Amino acid sequence: MTVHILGGGPAGLYTGLQLLKRGFEVKIYERKPDIGLSQHCTGIVSKRTIENYDLPQKLVLNRFKGVSLKISDNLIEVRTSIPKAYRIDRYLFEKELEYRVLNLGGDIILNYHDVSKIRSSSEYIVDATGSISYIKDVKSDFLPSLQLEFHTTDSKLYDLFDDETVYLFFDKELNRDFFIWLVKYLDRYIIGSASLQNLHKILRNTLSNWGIRNYNIVARYYGFLIVGGPRRRFYSDRRDSVYVGDSAGQTKPSTGGGLYYISIASRILSKKFSEGELDYSTEFYKILGKEIALQKLARLIFLELDNKEFINLVEIMSRKELLNMLLLYGDMDYHATSMLNLIDKDILKYLFKHPRIISEGIKIISSIF
Ligand SMILES: Cc1cc2nc3c(=O)[nH]c(=O)nc-3n(C[C@H](O)[C@H](O)[C@H](O)COP(=O)(O)OP(=O)(O)OC[C@H]3O[C@@H](n4cnc5c(N)ncnc54)[C@H](O)[C@@H]3O)c2cc1C
Repeated sequence: MTVHILGGGPAGLYTGLQLLKRGFEVKIYERKPDIGLSQHCTGIVSKRTIENYDLPQKLVLNRFKGVSLKISDNLIEVRTSIPKAYRIDRYLFEKELEYRVLNLGGDIILNYHDVSKIRSSSEYIVDATGSISYIKDVKSDFLPSLQLEFHTTDSKLYDLFDDETVYLFFDKELNRDFFIWLVKYLDRYIIGSASLQNLHKILRNTLSNWGIRNYNIVARYYGFLIVGGPRRRFYSDRRDSVYVGDSAGQTKPSTGGGLYYISIASRILSKKFSEGELDYSTEFYKILGKEIALQKLARLIFLELDNKEFINLVEIMSRKELLNMLLLYGDMDYHATSMLNLIDKDILKYLFKHPRIISEGIKIISSIF
């Protein structure tokens, strides 16, 4: 039986690989002229994600032993002796998956633009076309994103940033919608964020706040970050398609990271297909439902609090060393669950002053049980 997969990004390729391993024939249709050309992703992943994809070490660019969390003027820095997160080369990652698919006899058709033909003539269709497919159907809970890759001769930056740290900045006056991140690799820096506001201005202002004015932008990466949580069901009778990856909205609502969820979703999907079933939503939510619900709650708290309230909350958490503990011992893929374990009555009392956090929070929490 042949499965037709629309989209040759991580979700399409990894799902193809899993289906090939289960004896399906696989055809992947990619509209771009080559695999690996979508460069909207930073590529920060957990050790677990690297293991799930069984990635060779040569794909790893950064090994992060530190997190620097700056919330307005509060700075929390944590360092560990072993890496807690990694950054992989996104181009080589997709090339590695492409190689494995071809090696197992999968077919990859590049430059493909006639998706409607496949949709009308095929029985088993997997939609792995990325965020646009989700945005068209779900119409909310996504943010335009921009990453700037730059280098600079400003020696001040060498003192400010290193290759072993992920820098996260929360400042709701600068960007009310999301945090700003920065990573460094050799002489290159990547700064990025997501927002409904003017992203060029947000990133320019962030750099200028650090006194960085002389830099050469070598690339701009645009994309859409999905922060609303996955579709309820991953199979659509109407479209006769099964969604996976960004097209299913399978990203972390608090960070937009999708590669870990893809590694899980693709496996469950292929197992269900081999059992003759197309919908794998129940199994996906059984594993990730609680964490996704809690991340939605964390995002709601971020959106509901104004800058001053958010800083107050951070100060309460800092006094109790809770953020340090989260950064040191929390699980990157399940950070909302880790955070829940740290919440105490002072934090609850603070959050309960906000009626929408209570009402929406109750809805979100009750969806878990
Ligand atoms: C700014 C930003 C930073 C991110 N950083 C991280 C991170 O650090 N860590 C992490 O885990 N995740 C991160 N993510 C999320 C991650 O990039 C996505 O979850 C992941 O790329 C989704 O893979 P996908 O295959 O579903 O979609 P995509 O990567 O978008 O791939 C979809 C593919 O389908 C093709 N396509 C689209 N339409 C068609 C069509 N009609 N016909 C044929 N082909 C088509 C596209 O050309 C593309 O190759 C980030 C996302 C953004 C926006």
